[in-house]
Amino acid sequence: MATPLAVDEALAAILEAAPVLPSEEIPYQEALGRILQEEVRADHDSPPFDKALMDGYAVVSSDLGTTPRVLRVLEEIPAGSDPGRLETLTTGTTSRIMTGAPIPPGADAVLIVEETEPVSGDAGAIRAKSRVGRGDNVARRGADVRAGDRLLAPGEFIGPGEIGVLASCGRTRVRVGGRPRLAVLATGDELVQADRDPGPGGIRNSNGPLLTALARRAGTEALDLGIAPDEPGRLRQALERGLEADVLVTSGGVSMGARDLVGETLRALGVAIRFDRVAIKPGKPFTFGTRGSTLVFGCPGNPVSSYVIFQVFARPAIRRMMGFAEPLPPRVRARLEAEVRQRPGRTGYYQARARVTADGFAVTILPTSGSADFVSCARGNALAIVPAEVETLAAGEVVEVLLLDDHADR
Ligand code: AMP
Ligand code: MG
Repeated sequence: MATPLAVDEALAAILEAAPVLPSEEIPYQEALGRILQEEVRADHDSPPFDKALMDGYAVVSSDLGTTPRVLRVLEEIPAGSDPGRLETLTTGTTSRIMTGAPIPPGADAVLIVEETEPVSGDAGAIRAKSRVGRGDNVARRGADVRAGDRLLAPGEFIGPGEIGVLASCGRTRVRVGGRPRLAVLATGDELVQADRDPGPGGIRNSNGPLLTALARRAGTEALDLGIAPDEPGRLRQALERGLEADVLVTSGGVSMGARDLVGETLRALGVAIRFDRVAIKPGKPFTFGTRGSTLVFGCPGNPVSSYVIFQVFARPAIRRMMGFAEPLPPRVRARLEAEVRQRPGRTGYYQARARVTADGFAVTILPTSGSADFVSCARGNALAIVPAEVETLAAGEVVEVLLLDDHADR
């Protein structure tokens, strides 16, 4: 048994082994959360024509040197009108115009409707009550974007705003980084499915659903393979199936017990085990291997260990595969809201809740009775990092914290 690898060394080895997946072209509505792998340029000026920014009257601004002034109304221009078919304004005339509609030739401003009034007895005219500057309430063609401008660059994250940009320039298909197929397998003779009565000696499989949810949240297409017993033949069969994916995440069976068979079964299936111990708490027996381009994360069965190992090691690998330039979660400094103690020796990655205060982040490490306290996974939004050599940190001391996806939600 090798000595445990330091967390940073383990992470570096994993990221090096994680292949950036080939890009693919997909419908743009499905691109949310993916990484763009091509340039997106504007296919037209925006606005595409001189456009009214307010409801009102298109005018020749020099007509309104002295107001009030009566103007003859030529026509009504709703949004969507063809700019090539509008009547030309000459002095003394106006056209009623709606927000978003093209400015007619001859006009150079829009007088807002509130600054006009009807002329009694003359439905074909209005009275302009105030002056307006040249260009007022008009967006010039190309003021926002010129045809050919680069709007999005390869490597950018596609969020809702980017989806809007893609739609605006008619990019209905878009090239993005690949999305890993990930399989989750829970191992253990004691496990039963969530919808079963665990009976004496049994426990419900919570890690499978937990890891599947984490994997989906991380952007993968995750398949939950259910439960494999600690029996060599059936375990081997289930692992073999999992190895068809780009990433296989297992839980349980990597400790020192007589029935901890995951490591040796993976080896028998041709997986090169890169390491099988990491100096992290919780999660020391974490086992990592590769077969071809498939990555295998053998998480310990303790639910908190599984959670921490996934967040610290598997999620960055997934993000690298998807093409994220920065695969690691944001790492910030935070003030401890209460004292922490640990047995020195391994770097602690503790379930925590971070919040923003007037003077930076504050963090509370969630109470846990040990690495099997699965309920503490439920309320965390961060992992607090306590260096290996530390025994005690007082309230008010500063630690580094990894902000997890859930930080945005709670
Ligand atoms: P192991 O790593 O297989 O030795 O399991 C360590 C502990 O985690 C044991 O107490 C197991 O009962 C528990 N455990 C293992 N697998 C799961 C699972 N899928 N869901 C919940 N708890 C589990
Ligand atoms: Mg087990």
